[in-house]
Amino acid sequence: MKLELSKRQEAILEIVKKEGPITGEQIAERLSLTRATLRPDMAILTMAGLLEARPRVGYYYSGKTPNKVIAEKLHRIKVGEVKSVPVVVSEHCSVYDAVVTMFIEDVGTLIVVREGGILEGVISRKDLLKITLGGQDIHKLPVGVVMTRMPNVITVGPDDSVWLAAKKLITHEVDALPVVRPVEGGDKNKDLEVIGRLSKTNITRLFVELGEGN
Ligand code: ADP
Repeated sequence: MKLELSKRQEAILEIVKKEGPITGEQIAERLSLTRATLRPDMAILTMAGLLEARPRVGYYYSGKTPNKVIAEKLHRIKVGEVKSVPVVVSEHCSVYDAVVTMFIEDVGTLIVVREGGILEGVISRKDLLKITLGGQDIHKLPVGVVMTRMPNVITVGPDDSVWLAAKKLITHEVDALPVVRPVEGGDKNKDLEVIGRLSKTNITRLFVELGEGN
C-alpha cells in the first residue's frame, strides 16, 4: 500500500526534510505560492502523519515513511471497532439445523457456545459439507461431533488490533475468529465469553473504507 502524494506535496515534503523546522510562510515563499494555496496540502501531510506542526516552531518531518504511517494506523484500529455480532449455536444443535442457520444468518462460520455464551468451538462450511458426505442422518447428528473444539479455537480480544486479527486469520488459514473476553472468576484459558465475530469480511470492509479515505 502506498500513499499517493501530489507533486506539490512531494515538493513540500522535500523542503521540510531539508530545512525543517520551517514555517508555513517560508515554505510558501520557497514555492512562490501563497500560504492559503498551500493550506490543504499542509493539512493532508500533517493528517497523514508525514509532517508534524508545532506552534511558534513550524513544520518538521516526522521521519515516518507513508507505509510506516499506514502500519501504525492498522495497529491502532481495534477489533472491537470492526467486529460483527456472533452467530451462535449449542453443541447439541443438529448438523441440519446448523446448515439452515448458516443460510438464514448468511455467515460462513458458526460459533458454538454453552450456557452463558461461553466458547466451546467453531464450525465452518466445509466441516458441515464433510459430515454431509458421510451419509449419516444429519437431523440426528449434533454439531459437537464435527466442530473444532476448545482449546484449539483461535480467538481475539476486543482490544487487540485488527492487524493482529488479520495476521491470525492468515497464519491459521481460517475465515473467522470468535471475539472473546475472559469470564470474571473463571479459568483465563478455558472460560471465554463470546462477544463478537471477526471474519475476513470485516477486514475487507475496513480495507475498502481506508481506501476511500475514511
Ligand atoms: P472452510 O473449512 O469452510 O474453508 P475455514 O477455513 O474457516 O472454513 O475452516 C477450516 C477449518 O478450521 C475447519 O475445520 C474449522 O472448524 C476450523 N476453524 C475455523 N475457524 C477457526 C478458528 N477461529 N480457530 C480454530 N479453528 C477454526
